[in-house]
Amino acid sequence: PQPSPRRPIRELPDELISQIAAGEVVERPASVVRELVDNALDAGATEITVRLVAGGVRAILVEDDGIGIPADELPMALKRHATSKIASLAELEAVSTMGFRGEALAAIASVAEVAVLSRTAGADHAWRLDARSGELAPAARGVGTSVEVRELFFSTPARRKFLKTDATELAHCIEAVRRHALARPDVAFAVWHEGRLVEQWRRASFEQRVRDVLGADFMEGAREVQARVGPLALSGYAGVPEAARSRADQQYFYVNGRYVRDKLLAHGVRAAYEDVLHGARQPVYLLRLDIAPDRVDVNVHPTKIEVRFRDAREVHQAVRHAVEAALAQPHTQAAAAPAG
Ligand code: ADP
Ligand code: MG
Repeated sequence: PQPSPRRPIRELPDELISQIAAGEVVERPASVVRELVDNALDAGATEITVRLVAGGVRAILVEDDGIGIPADELPMALKRHATSKIASLAELEAVSTMGFRGEALAAIASVAEVAVLSRTAGADHAWRLDARSGELAPAARGVGTSVEVRELFFSTPARRKFLKTDATELAHCIEAVRRHALARPDVAFAVWHEGRLVEQWRRASFEQRVRDVLGADFMEGAREVQARVGPLALSGYAGVPEAARSRADQQYFYVNGRYVRDKLLAHGVRAAYEDVLHGARQPVYLLRLDIAPDRVDVNVHPTKIEVRFRDAREVHQAVRHAVEAALAQPHTQAAAAPAG
């Protein structure tokens, strides 16, 4: 074929840059839920409510009681690469907030209709910014923030086609909140779908939250994980081999409070089950790794679902040994029956 004639190099328009970025960050309603709940947690919320319409495709509303955004900064919140969370490379390397890239709201606003309603402690009332029109108007709500996202992918029908049924999208949205809920038992969560309360987790101890979210069955077969190896701390629960499932649908790993899907960590856990779990059976677990922020790079992927460790071997070993030690326990307080 004939090569097409060369066109001059041009900078992409801002809107298109955001839409390209959105391709990486916003796959489906659940990705929006995840980003908005991340923001609520970063704002210090103690109570987060998620309201969905049509599995989140028609509308996603996330309300929090966090610190809010001052009215004069609302337009900035929607700007690409604008963040209040880091200001330098040194801060990036020590980052402890869920967000820091300053692109989620801009990305979402490029593929959906977005409004942000917020009130800070000092303000007389809230303000609502409509992303499309740029209109800023007084509004009513207590201290905190509500983000409204409507008609996801309305302008990108190709993307919209990839969405599954409302029921499936709803399930993914709930799973996104569940992942946060397991990391933050100190925060209350509620999920509503079309006016019906579908999930609610009240503030609780870690153990109680795990029981509330994953069920008594999970706890029944759980062994407590507790290990400290140099700068690493591992905690949580690993299911006994008999509790393994045919699907890998109860495998939760958190690094410094962030839910991750990481090959190295998954492999470390799997290695601990090597001699006791055969075939395609999938172990159940909820593990938390705490590590100095400068030993882990969370800026590997736009969704931050993958991480990179400075001492990968050490981390792998620590995970494996911690889970092996937990599985070797004959009995645990984690089990439902109180010890005699
Ligand atoms: P990031 O979280 O990476 O900073 P976002 O696009 O998600 O980027 O958000 C941009 C900025 O908007 C945040 O840095 C924060 O200052 C503000 N913001 C967003 N959501 C909230 C919220 N729920 N409460 C308070 N501030 C928020
Ligand atoms: Mg964010």
